[in-house]
Amino acid sequence: MMKKYIFAVIFCLITFTLPAASQNGQVAADRDLLAEIYKIKAIDNHAHPLAAMRGGEIDVEEDYSQAAEPFDVPVRLRPDNPEYKGARRELYGDAFDESRLKAADYLAAKQLFISKKDEGFPVWVLDRLGIDVMLSNRIAMGRGLNSPRFLWVPFADPLIFPLDNRVASATNPDYLSHYKGAEKILARYLKESGVSAVPPTLDAYLKRVLTPTLERQKKQGAVALKFGVAYQRTLDFADTPIAEASRVFARYRNGVPPAKDYKALQDFLFRYIVREAGRLGIVVHVHVGAGASGYFDQGGANPFILEPVLNDPKLRGTKIVLIHGGSPFAQETRMLLYKPNVYADFSAQTFLLSTRELSTVLRSWLEFVPEKVLFGTDAFELMPEVNWADHASLTVTSARRALAIALTGMMQDGQISRDRALELARMVLRENAAKLYGFKSK
Ligand SMILES: [Zn+2]
Repeated sequence: MMKKYIFAVIFCLITFTLPAASQNGQVAADRDLLAEIYKIKAIDNHAHPLAAMRGGEIDVEEDYSQAAEPFDVPVRLRPDNPEYKGARRELYGDAFDESRLKAADYLAAKQLFISKKDEGFPVWVLDRLGIDVMLSNRIAMGRGLNSPRFLWVPFADPLIFPLDNRVASATNPDYLSHYKGAEKILARYLKESGVSAVPPTLDAYLKRVLTPTLERQKKQGAVALKFGVAYQRTLDFADTPIAEASRVFARYRNGVPPAKDYKALQDFLFRYIVREAGRLGIVVHVHVGAGASGYFDQGGANPFILEPVLNDPKLRGTKIVLIHGGSPFAQETRMLLYKPNVYADFSAQTFLLSTRELSTVLRSWLEFVPEKVLFGTDAFELMPEVNWADHASLTVTSARRALAIALTGMMQDGQISRDRALELARMVLRENAAKLYGFKSK
């Protein structure tokens, strides 16, 4: 017993007197820096929080895309990932003791806790996790999310698919449900624009549906528009002349457009929306990189494919954020940060990658253009056992730790001072986003 005790003391002495430097040859986060990083009130650039629903109701306005078939889920997202227990302890504190409960009892205890918080639950989650503001990518906001702490990011994709989508839907097993979802949202946008059907000409569509929708969303508080379009086609948007786009629109308004013609129209509409967003002062979010489905076209979501859009001088007035930082094309994303209007967040990398691997990506970005790097969780509802809040807890912790590891490494290599390390942490977790969206930072 005594021997064990002495061994423990020696072990502790060794761990705590190590120059926070390296354990097993790897950089370990500097403890003081990590403690400071935990105090920073974050701005989450991309997440999918759920509204507070009354008993039995389902939140149908969270998202619209669905994979056609089950696929192999990466380890960190599996409900049996032991990291989730720690994440929940951090979030719920001693509200219930998961380690003493059977799985079903734990779920019931958690659901009871959430239902008691009712519409105060979403803001409570942000408070617990040190998140000041969460940009919420949703079809519409909902109960408990109508707080200045949750800012709306609506979907722009439905606006680029105004014609018959049957041919496009048939090209990939996933596409059918994505196009159905997009069509439903477009019908909503038409109705909200006071239009009963897609108008007969492109000019009328732009003036009576597209622009009024963006203006209305801006008025309703949207700070950004999100394109998840990589789930429905590749990111190569050509610069289609308006005459060609008008011809396709008028010709196939009442028909089924051939794939080549429809693509030309979609390309035009995508670029048109990007330009309009710039005019209205709305930031554009584009999903780049890995997508969650066994049929997702990974190669078609490479951020370099988007480069002609990012290089179009007519679109330089729009700020564009590469959502998820293009992982696994994180180094391609890093090089795109050269462009004055391009930013990147590392949402989803917070759970697709281990904290260690994320720290490597972050370091490479911070050594390049740190003013354009944004924190994001991509927190979403996996299932009641691992809800959006549990997910946010796991990812925000991973992000803070990865940031601390990256910055500690840079300090140890003499690249930055401790003061600069803390400044970079504040920029990534908060200040860069505050500047980008024009928030008054506290
Ligand atoms: Zn997302």
